[in-house]
Amino acid sequence: MQQTTLGCDWCAAGKNGLRPYAVSTLALTNGKRTAKTPTLDLCARHIRQLTKQFRPMKKVRGPYKITKQERTRRATKHDPMWKEREEKVLAALKGKEGGLKGPELTKAAKLTKHYIYKVTTRLLEAGKVKRVGANGERRGFVLA
Ligand SMILES: [Zn+2]
Repeated sequence: MQQTTLGCDWCAAGKNGLRPYAVSTLALTNGKRTAKTPTLDLCARHIRQLTKQFRPMKKVRGPYKITKQERTRRATKHDPMWKEREEKVLAALKGKEGGLKGPELTKAAKLTKHYIYKVTTRLLEAGKVKRVGANGERRGFVLA
């Protein structure tokens, strides 16, 4: 069947072989429309769908609510990773009676400063390592 009106590009043809007619033609253009300008002929429903995409998403304001379940899920997911890193730090400190200071520890454990910081914080909380070094000195860590 010959369709004389412009059909919607996003709609499938209906039972009668006709697509819902397009109410608008959208062109993706920098202002100079040429034959190559991509265009979309859309029906009213699809125009609404498309224009929705143009609106920025509402910003979600923090603090983010994390459910207990989500917290557990995240913790479990990252557990093996932390365990592995904790073990590296513990192994690096093994036998070091005077402990290791920041740069020595990063080298020995082969972790970045960022992870050394995170992992030692976890180990301190767990009571597996202690801080060493007087105030003013660079702090180090030793096995607890
Ligand atoms: Zn449509």
